[in-house]
Amino acid sequence: MKNYHLISNGQAITTLDTFKVFNPSTSELVAEAPKATLEQLNSIIQSARDAFPQWSSLTHSERQNYINKIADVLEQNSEEIAKIITKEQGKPIGASLGSMFEIGGAIAWARYTATLETPVKVLQDDENGRVELHRRPLGVVASITPWNWPVLIAIWHIIPALLTGNTVICKPSPYTPLSTLRMIELMNSVLPKGVINSVTGGDELGAALSNHPEINKVVFTGSTATGKKVMSSAADTLKHLTLELGGNDAGIVLPDCDPEAIAPGLFWGAFINNGQTCAAMKRLYVHRSIYDQVCTSLTNFAKSIKVGDGFEEGAELGPVQNQMQFDIVNRLVKQSVEQGGKVLLGGPLDNPKGLFFPITLVAIEDNQNPLVQNEQFGPALPIIPYDTVEEAIAMANDNDSGLGGSVWSTDKAKAASIAAKLECGSVWINKHGAVQPNSPFGGIKSSGLGVEFGEEGLLANTNIQCILS
Ligand code: NAD
Repeated sequence: MKNYHLISNGQAITTLDTFKVFNPSTSELVAEAPKATLEQLNSIIQSARDAFPQWSSLTHSERQNYINKIADVLEQNSEEIAKIITKEQGKPIGASLGSMFEIGGAIAWARYTATLETPVKVLQDDENGRVELHRRPLGVVASITPWNWPVLIAIWHIIPALLTGNTVICKPSPYTPLSTLRMIELMNSVLPKGVINSVTGGDELGAALSNHPEINKVVFTGSTATGKKVMSSAADTLKHLTLELGGNDAGIVLPDCDPEAIAPGLFWGAFINNGQTCAAMKRLYVHRSIYDQVCTSLTNFAKSIKVGDGFEEGAELGPVQNQMQFDIVNRLVKQSVEQGGKVLLGGPLDNPKGLFFPITLVAIEDNQNPLVQNEQFGPALPIIPYDTVEEAIAMANDNDSGLGGSVWSTDKAKAASIAAKLECGSVWINKHGAVQPNSPFGGIKSSGLGVEFGEEGLLANTNIQCILS
């Protein structure tokens, strides 16, 4: 069994305590992960602080070169990292949206982000004076990540922060710490000491990072409830925050769609990573005139998907990652049936063993049904009929979440006019959840604060300094 270490100041750090990381497919122990003390956390923060002056004084192009070196070293070790992801997270290694896809996406993301610039903006240059707007790094950025896409989400946090001259501390989820620990170790083989550091342990480390006076920004991806805690504990030291929180994305299918043709796109929009994806479709609204056909096509397509251990040949979806999430999914599906939902496929489990939950589709009339109103974050999709587009938009917006949404139609202009009325940060047309590195991504309402990706995401890691002469 491989030993995992924290990395601080370029050195591997061992801890007195460890915690166990289990494979959700088999319940077997994958490894013991280091459990840092708060004293160790302080010294890790100090190492990031010490590395900041030198890292921030490099030129942008020197840091671009370092980011490309990170992409290279991850590429050279991508298979190893993908195996760790599959062992601790459960997503299949060979599936088109599995762990090789996750590490491949992370590498592509790093390379694209490395091409972004932060040029000085000249706001005025005339006989009355010159005003230049510069972007300066914030200092030390803490990245706190969830368990669904451990490597990809960490890359989303780390790369823009490093590129703009900040040093970083990563705290992965206690459910999936190993791939992040290995990735940070690899990054340290190409970066100066202290620029990127890792810390693992319990949730208390996240809380300690959020109110630590030597941390300048927290970039947090996780649940809305925890995001609110991060925001309140960051208040004392007025930290910069980017919060990417829970979603309950709606998809709206217009009556002009061909049910057979859209079934694969609808399925993968909802079930990518077994539904354990912030921007997965979590509610599907279908015009009543084609409702039955869409339910049938989606059910038939879903039946063709193989669920299994992530190392099993042909497995496209794995288990739910942890018991807590499994119980949420099972409870919401049970409640949805008790409140009138009709199971089309799968359904609630009475005496579940293990973490495999069947792909579940539920036909639901009532928009207030618990499976519609709450984020299930798992392999269960409610399908709700509507009669008018106005009704569909009102139902889609009748939720605290506002991360993403989608409209499905052969009439792109009509779809775009509906998109404009959806209360969410991203709207896809004829696809769902396809985040990309050049398109700023973030939630509104309870789904978050600020954006990641693209120029706007990069600049969220900087302070503005104006020089007026
Ligand atoms: P979570 O909120 O339970 O945990 C996320 C991280 O926060 C973990 O690293 C955890 O250790 C840490 N943490 C726990 N308590 C903390 C505290 N008091 N202060 C600081 N950090 C603390 O979320 P999760 O269960 O790991 O992930 C699932 C949730 O994440 C879902 O709601 C999902 O929608 C959301 N998510 C959102 C996005 C997005 O981009 N919007 C992406 C992925 C996941």
